[in-house]
Order: sequence, then C-alpha cells, then structure tokens
Amino acid sequence: MDLARFWNFSAGPSMLPDPVLNQISIDILDWNSTGISVADINHRSKHFEIIYNEAESYLRSLLELSSDYCILFMQGGGQGANAIVPMNMIGRNRANKADFIISGYWSSKSYLEACRYGDVSVIADNSYITKIDDHDYDPYTWFPANESIKTRYGSSYLQFCSNETINGVEFVDWSGIANNINSDAVLVVDASSNLLTRKLDINCTGVVFACAQKNAGISGVTIFIVRKDLIGKALHICPSIFDYMNIFNEHSRYNTPPVFAIYVTGLVLKWLKMNGGIKRMEYSNLEKSQLLYNFIDSTSFYINKIHSSVRSRVNIPFFLSNNLLTDIFIEKAENLGLMNIRGHRSLGGLRASIYNAMPIDGVMALINYMRDFECYYG
Ligand code: PMP
Repeated sequence: MDLARFWNFSAGPSMLPDPVLNQISIDILDWNSTGISVADINHRSKHFEIIYNEAESYLRSLLELSSDYCILFMQGGGQGANAIVPMNMIGRNRANKADFIISGYWSSKSYLEACRYGDVSVIADNSYITKIDDHDYDPYTWFPANESIKTRYGSSYLQFCSNETINGVEFVDWSGIANNINSDAVLVVDASSNLLTRKLDINCTGVVFACAQKNAGISGVTIFIVRKDLIGKALHICPSIFDYMNIFNEHSRYNTPPVFAIYVTGLVLKWLKMNGGIKRMEYSNLEKSQLLYNFIDSTSFYINKIHSSVRSRVNIPFFLSNNLLTDIFIEKAENLGLMNIRGHRSLGGLRASIYNAMPIDGVMALINYMRDFECYYG
C-alpha cells in the first residue's frame, strides 16, 4: 500500500521504511497466519523464537560479525547503556578505570554516568576552540587527532561516540584509535545513530551499542555487540537484568524482552538486507548528505560549522545566519510536510536527521524548500 507520509527529519524515533509499516499493519492483527497478533506473542513461544532468530541472524550477517562477538538485545535505551557498560566493563582490570573521548552531548552524558562506577577520566576532547588549517573551529565541531588519544595505564576501556546525534560530528576511524591505545584497554563505541548506516570496523572493538529508534527499528530495545571474552566481569552491584552474562546465557530472554520492538528491528534488518545491505545504505547516505552539505556550503544564508572530515552523514545540524528567522523556517517547513527540523534544545538552530529510511526525495524536498525560503527572506 502506498502510504501518505510526511518527511520526518526527527533524530529518533525516526522514519521507518514504508514496507516495514505495511508489514506491521498486517502482523498486528494476525502474525504469520497464526491468528495471533504480533503484540500478543509470548517471549517463550516458538513464534518469538522465529522472530528473535531472524533479527539476530540478519544483524549478524549485515554487520559481518565474527563468531567472537555476541548480540544482546537489552532495555534501557542509549542512556541505560551508559550505566550498563561501566557496570559490566570497568572491573575488567583491577584498577576500576575507564577513559573517555568527549566529542559532544552524548559522549559527555556517557562520561558523567560512568563516573559513578570508578576512576573515569577524559583523555581527549573537543570542548574548546581549535585552529585547523588556519581556521578556528568551535567546540564540538571537530574531533581530536588519533595521536592525541592515549589510554591510562590499567584502564579497562576507552569509550567514545561514533556519531554525535545532536552536534553532527561523526568519527569512523575506529581502528586508528584501537591501534593507538594501551593493549589492556578495549574500545567501547556508542554507535546509536550510525550503526547500519555505513561500514564500521566492529572487529576492533570490545563493545558497540546502539538504541534502535534511529536505524534499527523503534524505541524499547538496545542492541549490544559484545566480544564474548569480555562477558562475566560485571561489578557485584550490577543488577542481574543488566549483567551481560545473564542476557547472553538466556538469549536475551532473562526476563520478558521488548517483543514488539525486537520484531520491528527484525523487519527493518530484513528490509536493509533486501535493499542492498550496508554497502547500498552507505552509498545512499553519502549521496544524500553531500547534496545537503553542498547546498548549505553554497550560501552564507545557512551555516554548518563542522570540520569537513567529521561531518555526520546522518545528522546535519545547521543554522540560519539570521537566527530570528528560525521559528518561521520551522513553521513553513511543517506546512509543507517537512517535520521535526528543529535543532536539539541544547544547541538550537535546525537539524535534518536523514537516516537509512529517509529517501533522497525527502532530502531534495528539504533543499528545494531551503532554496525558496532563502529567495524570499534572504
Ligand atoms: N547516544 C546517542 C548517540 C543518541 O543519539 C541517543 C539518543 N538520541 C542516546 C545515546 C540516548 O538514547 P535513549 O534516548 O534511547 O536513552
């Protein structure tokens, strides 16, 4: 069925692909001709076994995960992960230490949460103005150089955010960092907003996590990809439900998992697989983001200050040079069906989140609107 939909530029929950919505509309009444709604399916049933196995195996194959890694479906969202990670990881080495790179809003939040569990330190950050190629770059618009990133002796892990959803800073040279750090530390990556949007080097990490509501379904489930040898080291204060060991042993069914959310994740992953997988998404996300950045850069009416080497392909914050026009811009955009374009409350301005499910037509519609708006108000 063709769906009449607005273009949803929300940072999450964000657009789901049309075929996924169509499938949900069938399965919500009768899943797989069983006479049972997918919303009623019991997590210990053979039906859920099918749903779960499908989601897991699509994810494994899309990410080309080696058998060294397991996939855990957990709850608590990205922010829950900020506590789950230290509780499971900081005690690996006796010193109870972890290191962080701060690159924007989400990594700062992760760091603050981790501080509750041990000796946690910021070893590199971009929270100040820096000069690159004779230009001054504002805080949170660039990423620290790999050479400056060294972990402390005895640190259990180094955590960073590979795509700052709010600030629009994306960092993907994971192995560059992995090669640089102390061998007793592993990498932990918050890939909430760019997992599945491009090829990422998961094999050089210890843990990667992502809340699902951006590129992998709806809110309610968080994906953890964990190197198996790191499991079983949780602090004694870690609630059983957040201990990787329990979730691993019980195949993400230690308690009632978010059945519906895992089902939607499975549908999204299947859609990804049927539509060319990560390679195709990477190509399309590059194309969409280049169109938008090229347009923004072609005029002084719109501004994006992120250093070109770390501009996010999926979250593009921008400002109007005349900030007073921001509310009018948003109102008129909504009248045309361009929704959720307001920047995060911490940053202001505007933001276009153009994840996997946003078609190029949506990006073109936005650019055409931006051009018209500038003609009128510029
Ligand atoms: N990390 C990143 C990079 C995010 O974008 C978000 C959510 N926007 C979070 C963590 C927090 O996720 P949640 O709202 O699911 O707790």
